[in-house]
Amino acid sequence: MVDGLLQSLGVASSAHTHGNHPVHTPIDGSQIASVTLENKAQVLGRIDVAHKAFLAWRDVPAPRRGELVRLFGEVLRQHKAQLGELVSIEAGKITQEGLGEVQEMIDICDFAVGLSRQLYGLTIASERPGHHMRETWQPLGVVGVISAFNFPVAVWAWNTALALVCGDSVVWKPSEKTPLTALACQALFEKALKQFGQAPEGLCQLVVGDRDAGEALVDDPRVALVSATGSTRMGREVGPRVAARFGRTILELGGNNAMILAPSADLDLAVRGILFSAVGTAGQRCTTLRRVIVHSSIKDEVVARVKAAYGKVRIGDPRKDNLVGPLIDKASFDAMQGALAKARDEGGQVFGGERQLADQYPNAYYVSPAIAEMPAQSEVVRHETFAPILYVLAYDDFEEALRLNNEVPQGLSSCIFTTDLREAERFQSASGSDCGIANVNIGTSGAEIGGAFGGEKETGGGRESGSDAWKAYMRRQTNTVNYSRELPLAQGIVFD
Ligand code: NAD
Repeated sequence: MVDGLLQSLGVASSAHTHGNHPVHTPIDGSQIASVTLENKAQVLGRIDVAHKAFLAWRDVPAPRRGELVRLFGEVLRQHKAQLGELVSIEAGKITQEGLGEVQEMIDICDFAVGLSRQLYGLTIASERPGHHMRETWQPLGVVGVISAFNFPVAVWAWNTALALVCGDSVVWKPSEKTPLTALACQALFEKALKQFGQAPEGLCQLVVGDRDAGEALVDDPRVALVSATGSTRMGREVGPRVAARFGRTILELGGNNAMILAPSADLDLAVRGILFSAVGTAGQRCTTLRRVIVHSSIKDEVVARVKAAYGKVRIGDPRKDNLVGPLIDKASFDAMQGALAKARDEGGQVFGGERQLADQYPNAYYVSPAIAEMPAQSEVVRHETFAPILYVLAYDDFEEALRLNNEVPQGLSSCIFTTDLREAERFQSASGSDCGIANVNIGTSGAEIGGAFGGEKETGGGRESGSDAWKAYMRRQTNTVNYSRELPLAQGIVFD
């Protein structure tokens, strides 16, 4: 299924055959490749080379570093269709979403190229005569990227494009569920490197490995920044370990994203927003809509319309004309069924959620998206189940809706559908949504790369991608220069 595709992306067959770790496609559950997992000693060797590469790369002028990222963006443009198809095969995303993920890589490359001429610092007024103060941004070191299965290529690109223009080197450990797309990214990056010439050896490396390989990155003091995307469980382990050695982290962890649906909302828009956010990527986005907090006066109508929309969703092979592909694996299906059983126990009324196409694909896990009308924001609702379950909660008073939005442990994305300006502004105010993303009349998922991406509380607090997220990949330095013939001290201190 993948040999020709991998070849067209520049991956040698020796890299994905005869390995010790089987790779399955969620489309039909079959094994499509086998890769070799690297051990800890190999990871440490890679960090060593990456550190040497950093020492050389940091002195290359930033716009020249940007040229490498520009070339990489061009290579991605040329291979968008093939890489997108590989994302569909390995992660189960529908074709449109696979292509969209590669487009996101191209977009962040474009952003980073511009950034390479805009790593601006500040000039600061000094209190001392004949003195000049400024703030500059310097390259940081080796960046360790740990990524999740559900965005197998874009998250790496978000980190790598910024890290490279900032003067850092990168070691990437992708999910053990999606090593093939990672091998393809590495091969494409090497094409760009060839065109660029003169980049230090090992500037950007791939570690095909499992959790142990991730832990080697986490614990090594030469890795200045660990950017880790995945479950809150993973972040709970990674965060304190990196902090214990005074390393830096960007943690991009689980979400539990809500929509407040107000009585004034444009319901046609809202139902379309719910559909894309709740069932897109089969509910396996960190920004997937998991809770609708709907005004009780329109709840029945909204539930009826969402059920009707769900009934028409085409489920099946993500490469064909379908909207919902498979769950990643059986563990994910079991977690979904467990959550639905718990929702029923907690007084919920469940619609959908059944396994689909089991005769055709006995080893793959397709499901109809589920809606669970809940009497309260009970335990199951507060937990992120990485599958298409949409919990519906009713509210009467806007303050109550805001409270429900915020009363979960996670804080990634949120949105409100309303035409009432007061509600919209309140939602985005200091006492409104407590999430990293708060949208108006747009669903919770599908962010653009221009904004900083990330969330609060158990989502980890990290920011990556656009805006000034690049600052996390650099070392801030304050400089004071004395161009006078005196040596005055700050705060007027006399020390004669
Ligand atoms: P996961 O936590 O199982 O694995 C993520 C990565 O962490 C993998 O590469 C894994 O090998 C590695 N890992 C696991 N334990 C580790 C440890 N102790 N030390 C070092 N590395 C370790 O997550 P998953 O199932 O691949 O992805 C789904 C989860 O990711 C969901 O919770 C989703 O919300 C989250 N996610 C968050 C974002 C975001 O930007 N906030 C984006 C995508 C996915």
